[in-house]
Amino acid sequence: MNKKIVIIGGGIAGLSAGIYARLNGFDTEIIEMHSITGGQCTAWERKGYRFDYCLHWLVGTRNGPFHDIWLETDVINDQVKIIDHEVHTKIYAEDGTDFTVYTNIDKWEKYLCEIAPEDTKSIKKMCRNMRKTSVIEPYSNPPELRRLRDKIGSLIKILPAIIIFIKYGKKTLREYIGQFNFKSPRLTLFFDNLFPTGDFSALAFIMMLAWFHKKNAGYLLGGSKPMAQRMTEKYLRLSGILLTQKKAEKIIVENNIAKGVLLDDGSKIFADYVISAADGHSTIFEMLDGKYLSEQIKEAYNSWELFNPIVQVSFGVNSEIKTDIPVQSWISKNTNIGQTKADQGYSIMNYCFDPSMAPPGKTVIVIRFESQWGLWKDLEGEEYSKEKQQIEKDARLLIEKHYPGITKNIEVVDVATPVTDVRYTGVWKGSYEGFLPSSKNLMSNLKPTLPGLDGFYMAGQWLAPGGGLPPAGQTGKWAIQLICKKEKKAFTTK
Ligand SMILES: Cc1cc2nc3c(=O)[nH]c(=O)nc-3n(C[C@H](O)[C@H](O)[C@H](O)COP(=O)(O)OP(=O)(O)OC[C@H]3O[C@@H](n4cnc5c(N)ncnc54)[C@H](O)[C@@H]3O)c2cc1C
Repeated sequence: MNKKIVIIGGGIAGLSAGIYARLNGFDTEIIEMHSITGGQCTAWERKGYRFDYCLHWLVGTRNGPFHDIWLETDVINDQVKIIDHEVHTKIYAEDGTDFTVYTNIDKWEKYLCEIAPEDTKSIKKMCRNMRKTSVIEPYSNPPELRRLRDKIGSLIKILPAIIIFIKYGKKTLREYIGQFNFKSPRLTLFFDNLFPTGDFSALAFIMMLAWFHKKNAGYLLGGSKPMAQRMTEKYLRLSGILLTQKKAEKIIVENNIAKGVLLDDGSKIFADYVISAADGHSTIFEMLDGKYLSEQIKEAYNSWELFNPIVQVSFGVNSEIKTDIPVQSWISKNTNIGQTKADQGYSIMNYCFDPSMAPPGKTVIVIRFESQWGLWKDLEGEEYSKEKQQIEKDARLLIEKHYPGITKNIEVVDVATPVTDVRYTGVWKGSYEGFLPSSKNLMSNLKPTLPGLDGFYMAGQWLAPGGGLPPAGQTGKWAIQLICKKEKKAFTTK
């Protein structure tokens, strides 16, 4: 008899856990509360347009341990086309000045030196730091399974970057940028607004651009939904069981051993192991009633900053609008969109680079902006509908401002709010990538096990500050590696 694993959540982490569990001979059931898999890695169709919710870039499109996961789970295969954008974002200030972030560090360095020659020395230093971190690779194995020789090997590889870790590992982006003392007001303005949230980690910023520079953070044509679909199909081909529209209410625990899951229809599924790849907060504090907490978990859920939720307004436009710049952002201190004062600005993404998003001759354009959870948490019924209508009105004016004449061609508008995200995925406070990577937590991943509870593992974005698809896929794999170790089984990816 195979041992059985029940997996709560059919997002990228749950699907990854399911695939590796099947590859290693476990019986599996994934329980997903929504009618489709993918979690936040999703999209929806409206009148022939596809409105994508997630994928801008996927770390691991070229090589390394994340790439291995994408190959093993069929996220990337011979048929999947990958695009590496030349421009990451173009940002505009209120007075019309602009600032481009290129994905190639050499190109960006040249551009920055041209617009701020007085800061050449600092710019070169900043770009040198980014290039140095490009040697950093994630580990293939979870911390619990790393051998001394893996650790030494990886230490040697990242030697050129160690000094960067030591110097900036505990610094915020603001402190990091501040120490360069840029003289150019243009540079200061834009760097101040790249990641406006105060405690954003310097190291996360430095490493992010290094991924792009290596062309290892591309976009998969088709976007989020087909990505999740390929994983789901692989899981089903491996004869994994998938139950949709079933919500896990409680994790069944006997004598501090997880034994299975109680569903919202009252039925129970028993298993040898339970993995929760659902939202971290509801897993720990609702499904397990907050009974199994470490000091680190308490600190994380009490005091670590979260990503602000976002509002997404998607437009289906009956005309072809071409651009080479996928994302444009506006710094705005005086723009209200619905009740949100868009202090953090807003972005406009034109999906013309992906022909699968709209019928020929048509275009999908999406406005996104941050909106504090406090504004949404009690909004219901009529009030909620009115807020959505106001957002649509304000967003129409914005898009007309940036694309004059577009309004007459808008065929469909869709407003997705933080409440939408919570309703469909259960994500805590609408924080779509979990904990913000900050100067306090960047190097403090949470453990996949909980103190005092056996037979239970966690996977998903809530284990790794910064969140995102790669940690989701990786923690799903790692949960199965740890279970294989417990079962004294050699782990396989074949
Ligand atoms: C607008 C946006 C843009 C993004 N852009 C990127 C990007 O470009 N690159 C990147 O790497 N990441 C990006 N992300 C982040 C990425 O989508 C997430 O970090 C990742 O999808 C999280 O995967 P997960 O499996 O950990 O969690 P989730 O996707 O939240 O999945 C959890 C799953 O569990 C299910 N569930 C929850 N509770 C229960 C329950 N009680 N019972 C049963 N099922 C349950 C949910 O329905 C869901 O399917 C973006 C996210 C958003 C919203």
